[in-house]
Amino acid sequence: MKGKVYLVGSGPGGKALLTLRAQQVLEEADVILYDQLPGPEILAGLPERAEKIDCGKFGGQHTLEQDEIEEIMVARALEGKKVVRLKGGDPFLFGRGGEELGVLRERGIPVELVPGITSAIAVPGAVGIPVTHRKYASSVTILTGHEDPEKDGSAIDWENLAGNRGTLVILMGVRNLPAIAENLVSHGKDPGTPVAIIERGMRPDQRVTTGTLATIAGIARERQVRPPAVIVIGDVVRLYREGEPGLVPL
Ligand code: SAH
Repeated sequence: MKGKVYLVGSGPGGKALLTLRAQQVLEEADVILYDQLPGPEILAGLPERAEKIDCGKFGGQHTLEQDEIEEIMVARALEGKKVVRLKGGDPFLFGRGGEELGVLRERGIPVELVPGITSAIAVPGAVGIPVTHRKYASSVTILTGHEDPEKDGSAIDWENLAGNRGTLVILMGVRNLPAIAENLVSHGKDPGTPVAIIERGMRPDQRVTTGTLATIAGIARERQVRPPAVIVIGDVVRLYREGEPGLVPL
């Protein structure tokens, strides 16, 4: 008898933003594979009875490689178990959900998808930065900043991004922020374009840092900005009001 794998998004952090379906499948799970991105509140509340596997710290030390994670999911499902693969935000946005779905399909394992609220939209939104706005931006592009912007044959089309008048949202971009800002400006984007960085969005220790393409790298260094953070570039950042309380209860 085959079990099932649930690819589940936890939302950006905090139980309030976990969907009802995500809570339900977590409660019924036999096995939960997670990493740290869902955040302490959700991870601390995982049900007692399930076997819990920390993919970032397996056996106390080693990080599970992607193929090892996939093997564990498949093996447990073949034992007839309900397996939850819990991911931050939505499983299909830079979460390797697509790859995992591919493997599970290939191996004939039944899958259920439980979408999550993505940090790319919710984290800026929760501090009062709408990623689109009739007056400021009619499109939004979400990209990973993880890729080394100096690397040859980069998959990122800087020319196109610099010319894009919509909002740019960058995930995993803290380390490469100086190179990203520099690349956008050298490809023609206005150095005065406003930028916001939201660290640990929708968590009690959330912090917002603002600047422009010209200044943000220096400001981020000074304030020691650390991941996880969402970076928003574009005129919508002008809508941010510092210290505005309670847009979303944390
Ligand atoms: N699937 C996730 C993204 C995974 S990539 C989603 O849909 O949200 C991991 C990146 O997401 C982090 O490096 C950071 O850029 C962003 N991120 C996720 N949760 C966040 C949070 N609560 N606050 C700030 N950034 C977050």
